[in-house]
Amino acid sequence: MDVEPERLTRTLLAAMALVAVASSAWAEPATLTDRRRMVEDIKTMTSEVAGETGIASLSARVLDRMAEVPRHEFVPSEQKAAAYRNRPLALGHGQTISQPFVVALMTELLDVKKEHRVLEIGTGSGYQAAVLAGLVRDVYTIEIVGPLAETAAAAFERLGYTNIHATVGDGYRGWPEHGPYDGIVVTAAPDHIPPALIEQLKPGGRLVIPVGEIWQDLMVLTKNADGTTTRTTVVPVRFVPLTRKKNEDD
Ligand code: SAH
Repeated sequence: MDVEPERLTRTLLAAMALVAVASSAWAEPATLTDRRRMVEDIKTMTSEVAGETGIASLSARVLDRMAEVPRHEFVPSEQKAAAYRNRPLALGHGQTISQPFVVALMTELLDVKKEHRVLEIGTGSGYQAAVLAGLVRDVYTIEIVGPLAETAAAAFERLGYTNIHATVGDGYRGWPEHGPYDGIVVTAAPDHIPPALIEQLKPGGRLVIPVGEIWQDLMVLTKNADGTTTRTTVVPVRFVPLTRKKNEDD
């Protein structure tokens, strides 16, 4: 078949343009599909453990948020292929980014509202903070390992999460300068509930925290209007320990 050269060039250029559009559009839908599958896995796990947690299903806004946040942006490059599996991943520095189901469950238990200001202890990858950032007004997050805090802060900046306020420090003492908070979520496990965190909760506020040694109980503590607390145990979980700075013995 004879093709006029000019027409051939036009056809080739058109084909190249199509390839360019297709490859730039590829990355986002692929992660979107992966995220939707992750949300399906979270729903399945929610019903599998409903007997233990007492939670039959997670709310649509939490699940929608899980479908939105780019978890692959928060995991080390060698873990990106596994970013949307429903499992914890190594972050380096002996730390882990929690399993997506656990992030969704803790977010649900916090019972957040759009106008809330929440505190997270254990920024780690920054993923839990990013999930919360779309559901509340402000997220304050504190991390004890400097390099992890820096990597997470860079991700917040790169992705435009302007309502996340991050710092380096020992979260056992909370972050009193910005308290009291409507909710506090702790993503490393102490062997007792840090008293400062109860102090920094507003009346009606909730603290979601794993308490214990190797295996922990995920607990929800609610601060009542009269300052007393109500505690419930949700499910056994496994988190890295809440570490302390030396010379702090409380
Ligand atoms: N929320 C994180 C999970 C991180 S794992 C995420 O979404 O990726 C728990 C984190 O808590 C680790 O990064 C660990 O360094 C941090 N951590 C441990 N003890 C701490 C403390 N006393 N204060 C603040 N962060 C602490």
